[in-house]
Amino acid sequence: MVRVSRVQSGSIAEELEIRPGTELISVNGRELADFLDWEFLTADDTLTIDARLPDGTEVEYEIEREDGEPLGVELEPPTVRRCANRCEFCFIEGLPKGLRRNLYVRDDDYRLSFAYGNFATLSNLKERDIARILEYRLSPLYVSVHATPWEARKVLLNNPRVPNILEQLRLLAEGGIQFHAQMVIVPGLNDGDVLQQSLSDLWNFGDAVLSVAVVPVGLTQFSHLYTGKSMDRENATRLLEVTEQWAERAQRERGETWVHGSDELYLLAGRELPDAEYYGDFAQIENGVGAVTALRRRVREGVSELPRLDGKRIGVVTGASMAPLMPELLRQLTEATGAEFELIPTTNTLFGPTVTTAGLLVGADIRRALADRHDLDLALIPAETINENGMFLDDERFVVVREALPIPVYPSYDFIDVLVHEGEPHAAGAAA
Ligand code: SF4
Repeated sequence: MVRVSRVQSGSIAEELEIRPGTELISVNGRELADFLDWEFLTADDTLTIDARLPDGTEVEYEIEREDGEPLGVELEPPTVRRCANRCEFCFIEGLPKGLRRNLYVRDDDYRLSFAYGNFATLSNLKERDIARILEYRLSPLYVSVHATPWEARKVLLNNPRVPNILEQLRLLAEGGIQFHAQMVIVPGLNDGDVLQQSLSDLWNFGDAVLSVAVVPVGLTQFSHLYTGKSMDRENATRLLEVTEQWAERAQRERGETWVHGSDELYLLAGRELPDAEYYGDFAQIENGVGAVTALRRRVREGVSELPRLDGKRIGVVTGASMAPLMPELLRQLTEATGAEFELIPTTNTLFGPTVTTAGLLVGADIRRALADRHDLDLALIPAETINENGMFLDDERFVVVREALPIPVYPSYDFIDVLVHEGEPHAAGAAA
């Protein structure tokens, strides 16, 4: 059963008097377990839907609709499948206490992997889940592989009951499912031979493995489970060497890069990031692979749209890892607008100084960075620091932080999104 949360006005569902709270029980005789069933079983244009209205009345709807006409039903969010592993490097285990509860949910859910690109280990997959993935062709999936040798993977996931990922991937690949894989690398555990073996195994899946991201382990000052070594420049350099050897082979034999080191890996190694062509369609940009290069491209292509802002002083808040890359971007922005940009590198007070990613700065960091900056005309902060409900990770609300600061503050993804509006009479920034 799935429950309706909203009915779109003017839709078929509204005409049928389906209301929020209505339980949708089956479609064409097949029971609904979750949003995937609803999504796939309602693909036909002739439907028989069994439902229970909020007052308990049972109803059967016979629906014939025009090709593709939406039913207009939104569902309550699904109960997330929890993770059965206990990785030492788990970022959620590295969260400080006292944050909002949903941040501590360790999801490992193939459904969210398909629907939203969340990475899943597949270690909690049952036979019926595999059957569903194949029946509904849930492809591509985003899979946290980390290591293909079984024993190494059990250690990494800290779970002796982990299934053999190679068998799982083979079964799914034979059914036409494709994957984006990630390998979070813990020095001494899955670098060296394990990494080579894993990349070789993934390569041998051919077209089924669409891309692989090699990501350095990321720890906070609260990562209490972690007993391994931290990632340093030397490790990062070695990992990039391996990654790039495989990438060269992939370019030669398949005409695409296939495996990428994450941006963080390049920054740790002190290496220049590759150009946009290297990232193809930026398949794992949400995973921090190619995000810096995409930003550079956006700025390069967007500066010509910007208004003149001569005389303005603009603060740019960022994390320590991005700070060295910013001067060149800010130089281009100054040249295009005439404004003076000041970089404000900011330390993460919630997770500790080892967490240098700009997108993980919290409300308290933004307050601290800008509290006394009366001298600026405005400031830009990383938009990734704020979720869809306008909250920072430390539960501060953006609107509250903004009100407390002496200057206008705008969340920005790429500078252009906000600055392009600055010349307008009532400039308000792009994403408030
Ligand atoms: S798979 Fe590992 S890293 Fe991911 S949520 Fe579970 S314990 Fe955390």
